[in-house]
Amino acid sequence: MRIENLPLRCSCGSEYMRHQLVDVFVRDVEDGPVNCVGVSGKTVEFYTGAVDCPSARRDAVVVTVHCEQCELVWDLQVIQHKGQTLLTFKLCE
Ligand SMILES: [Zn+2]
Repeated sequence: MRIENLPLRCSCGSEYMRHQLVDVFVRDVEDGPVNCVGVSGKTVEFYTGAVDCPSARRDAVVVTVHCEQCELVWDLQVIQHKGQTLLTFKLCE
């Protein structure tokens, strides 16, 4: 299966979703402490001991986007779970 150039769509129907933050969560070992690099515009932050990694035991990438139409904020998550890579698109609270 190949997915290419599939636009994200907000619950309001808009496909105009703008990136605002990218977080990369990495563990040295499974179940280990989480290191995170976050990039937003020209700002890059690195921290250890992240508690907001969407993968319970492994790595993940989260791209936070906002809808240009209604301003809702969403997370596109790429989550390592056991041997699988899972995609999740969820509304931020
Ligand atoms: Zn919207």
